[in-house]
Amino acid sequence: MTNNMKAEFKLISPEADILNKPLPEFKDEILPEGFTRTKIAEDLFVAMKQFGGIGLSANQVGLPYRMFVMGGHQDMEEGKARACWNPEIIEFSEETIQLSEGCLTYPLLFLQVTRPKKIKVKYTDNDGKEWTEDLDHMPSRVFQHEFDHMNGTDFTKLVSKFKLDRAKEKLRKLYEQEKKLAPKTVQLAKKIKREIEEKKTGVIKPNTDIIV
Ligand SMILES: [Zn+2]
Repeated sequence: MTNNMKAEFKLISPEADILNKPLPEFKDEILPEGFTRTKIAEDLFVAMKQFGGIGLSANQVGLPYRMFVMGGHQDMEEGKARACWNPEIIEFSEETIQLSEGCLTYPLLFLQVTRPKKIKVKYTDNDGKEWTEDLDHMPSRVFQHEFDHMNGTDFTKLVSKFKLDRAKEKLRKLYEQEKKLAPKTVQLAKKIKREIEEKKTGVIKPNTDIIV
């Protein structure tokens, strides 16, 4: 692949190995020839926007890099965007908050997840410069969600089985409704489900649901 070719990223299955084990520390020498941090981050941002998220981890599209991108949405920090390489969370607030979270890896599944409200984070940017930041509200939430992906875990592990089953049931009913609305029933419903999974449809409500 040459530099001016755009990478076509696809979301991979939540069962994929790369989403279920911690990513090793990122080192620049593991990038393929002709690729830079900036190039990877730019392509991930494009993919994130296409999928309708406000955060995307490299391993969600099958890339073995300990990094994620987040932001670029006008409703969050006035559109500030970050590419976070080797991210760390060095402090958590005792205060926690429950928010509705979604994940591009689990299309249209929303879970009420409780996490620390504020965090102090560290990461390096596309130039390798180290940043330490205090995050609160949505940026804090998005960072924590993506950070889970770095460690081979995700938001479904942070709720009870009861909560998870109930949310999945709600999602199943949503698909059923789509089926009822469609004239050719099952086949069409399957098509809709597939399209939702491929993120051709789907809704983003940035202030109420955080999809990352
Ligand atoms: Zn996610």
